[in-house]
Amino acid sequence: MYVMRLLIAGSLITLLAACSPSSDSNNSNSPLPPAESNSAHSSLPKFAWKMVTTWPPNFPIFQEGAQLFAENIALMSQDRLKITVFAEKELIPALQVFDAVSAGTIQMGHGSAYYWAGKIPAAQFMSAVPFGMTAKGVNAWLYEGGGLELWRKIYQPFNLVPFPAGNSGVQMGGWFNKRINTVQDLQGLKMRIPGLGGKVLAKAGGSPILLAGGEVYSALERGVIDATEWVGPFHDERLGLHQIARYYYYPGWHEPGTVLELIINKSAWESLPKDLQRIVEISAQALNQWMYTKFEVQNMQTLQKLKQQSQIEILPFPDEVLQELHRLTQETLAETAAQDPIFKEIYEAFRAFQAQNASWDAIADEAYHQALSQ
Ligand code: CA
Repeated sequence: MYVMRLLIAGSLITLLAACSPSSDSNNSNSPLPPAESNSAHSSLPKFAWKMVTTWPPNFPIFQEGAQLFAENIALMSQDRLKITVFAEKELIPALQVFDAVSAGTIQMGHGSAYYWAGKIPAAQFMSAVPFGMTAKGVNAWLYEGGGLELWRKIYQPFNLVPFPAGNSGVQMGGWFNKRINTVQDLQGLKMRIPGLGGKVLAKAGGSPILLAGGEVYSALERGVIDATEWVGPFHDERLGLHQIARYYYYPGWHEPGTVLELIINKSAWESLPKDLQRIVEISAQALNQWMYTKFEVQNMQTLQKLKQQSQIEILPFPDEVLQELHRLTQETLAETAAQDPIFKEIYEAFRAFQAQNASWDAIADEAYHQALSQ
């Protein structure tokens, strides 16, 4: 691993040699007219950073959001912090994002923490927890409930400073080529479902299969898998999954509010002056909100289109199935916690917050939704 990091560092060092901070004072596009301010601004250090993401080029909402984040920062900092964004494979493969930013060969990354579960099992609490909290609760936990401090603690040994930077909202349960009427229907089910959700499916007798996004369609079409989850109506329809599976189940019990992350190399972060740090921090909060609202609008609009497709059925998972998956989730989390003290610490903090949040939610949002449906 160390050798690999050195190789990555070696291959990129020439590309990055001219970076951060640079003394380039070319400021011809600056909108600041007064000569005095302009000269004060020109003397401030400038930073040219790179950001790598785990998303394909032009991937809507995900890669689009990362680009918007960089544009916002350039505009607000008057080009004092310029970030060039690279999609997966444009500089490095998606799954090397964490290591490259950790080593400092690249300053920033955008992805989701569950990709790093092999290194840090507890990172999954910072992305997707089956039967965990939705975006509303998870944002409250991260920003105001101690979650972000725990996140910083688990990334600290890797020289990384993380920020929440996007949320998918509640995902869909996935596309199935047969009905799921009982728990027995999960037996032997070959499903593309990553992370903790996959472990839970395995406990229920199914076979979780790991497949990259590009392989999902053909695997389902050829019957290599019987089912797949992906994201929500917007991204699922874009992938064409409605053309090759009949049953579209909800809700996404395994990803109720998946958090996306911004990671920054700690030394790079500390090299920024306080005002640029604040611009980055607030731009990450804005990205978190922007992505969530984009998902909300695109999903609700695409759902209307999918409802008109007569070849598909949009169905809720039966209560019995959800109850069993919930029970197996608690078993899975407790087993992992027993083997990993930091996972245990974060699981307990997450669970305590979720319980308190649920008790408030029951007489707030939930009670309101019930009142609305009377
Ligand atoms: Ca998913």
